Amino acid sequence: MSAARAALYLRLSKEDGDRDGASQSIRNQRDFLLDYCGKNSLPVVEIYADDGYTGTNFNRPGFLRMVEDIEAGRVDTVLTKDLSRLGRDYILTGYYLERYFPERGVRYIAVNDRIDTAAEQSDMTPFRAVFNDLYAKDISRKVRAALQTRRQMGKFIGTYPPYGYRKDPADRNHLVVEAEEAAQVRRIYAWFLGGQTVSAIARRLTEEGVPTPSAGKRMACGQKPGAGWSYPMVRRILSMPTYRGDLVSRMSQKISYKLDRVRRLPREEWLVAEGTHEAIVSSATFERAQELLAVRGYAARRKTAEPRPLTGLFFCADCGAPMTLWSNGKARYFVCAGWKRNPGEHRCTAHYLREEAVLEAVRAALAELLAQVRDPGGLAEEAAGPAGEEAEILARRLERSRDALAALYRDRAEGRVGQEVFDALAGRMRRQERALADKLAAARRGDEAREDFRTRAMELLGGKTLSRGLALGLIERIEASSDKALVIRLRCADITQKR
Ligand SMILES: [Zn+2]
Repeated sequence: MSAARAALYLRLSKEDGDRDGASQSIRNQRDFLLDYCGKNSLPVVEIYADDGYTGTNFNRPGFLRMVEDIEAGRVDTVLTKDLSRLGRDYILTGYYLERYFPERGVRYIAVNDRIDTAAEQSDMTPFRAVFNDLYAKDISRKVRAALQTRRQMGKFIGTYPPYGYRKDPADRNHLVVEAEEAAQVRRIYAWFLGGQTVSAIARRLTEEGVPTPSAGKRMACGQKPGAGWSYPMVRRILSMPTYRGDLVSRMSQKISYKLDRVRRLPREEWLVAEGTHEAIVSSATFERAQELLAVRGYAARRKTAEPRPLTGLFFCADCGAPMTLWSNGKARYFVCAGWKRNPGEHRCTAHYLREEAVLEAVRAALAELLAQVRDPGGLAEEAAGPAGEEAEILARRLERSRDALAALYRDRAEGRVGQEVFDALAGRMRRQERALADKLAAARRGDEAREDFRTRAMELLGGKTLSRGLALGLIERIEASSDKALVIRLRCADITQKR
């Protein structure tokens, strides 16, 4: 093995000088490193210094000269006093540490940080973890394409804005809230979450003479405003992420370019750009509506104004089938759907339970459970406790992540970072930012759910009967076993378990 050709890299900027004084001076760094190289038999071939340059970018003459020498093979070892001398931007510093130096066979030593890329045991591990987290190891075409698509997706390109919105006069690709329609959207969500069916909501809007989403369009085309609100109109409003501020493109796909037929895509395949415009309902409200829409028998086209209180919440403990209602003309009974489908096969037993008795038992059991959760004030306090803190921490992390991304964009704009590096880092950072934003939204959703739970708990403890709305807000699931024992699982388990 040939002898090492070591380079010392020294850097000092104004902000360093003020804080660390003489100990960080160029001279001090040089003496310190020369001493180290002497003791470790590392022949120094060159010293590069950047006096008065910040560590937040790598556009420094001394550093660039060193890079040239590395490229020319004149240097194979780089030493700095500590890592921050090399750079203060952890992404770009990480790029040199994890990619640039290793690819060129350059050994890097940050003496005070005990970083040595040639050593087995090195304190690089925590740093490496941060960097690897941010750095996409392979940048496939797909990821790059997805990034591009996402950029384009943030723009509204349709002809007609969705109900509740108008095109921004200042920017035709941006949506702004239309107050009157937005108020109707909020009512629709409130009614639905309060236990009304989609059909009942459509009827109510029609009765009140609220103009339908298509009325404006039809009148603009010289047509009559149409018959009124329909099931699909209301259902569409309840399921469009537009109302929580996200723009959805590609909800459907043309089957073939020849056939003018459109296939509606499953939700997982939609392209969604988050937070592109002002929301009309909160994320928690929207999510809740999606949960309810997914409950069988809840959103179905039915004539009754309200589904029974336990529809979609009550199951057979023995076979897992839903408990369905059955009426003998005088009273309603719950029976196991698994049994009812084919009683002769004896897959399960009937589990006959009078609906009225079940509702009263559930109400009493709930009241007892909730009373054990102690005073409702305690509930509120706990609701604001760990979850609120978590949201705060996540919000700070998200802010930092956004700052880092902004810095990367700046570096790219000013030519300090090449396109390839930028693509790799930006793609990864965007994904990370998105993941953080999702976590934050979930944490905030949790807070709202707790508040909602608390309100309903108070209502039930205040003596209210178990309505559909109360049941949905309090109960996760109820199971009945063949001995007619009921097991009730409450929502917001994290606060209700701390009794
Ligand atoms: Zn069963």
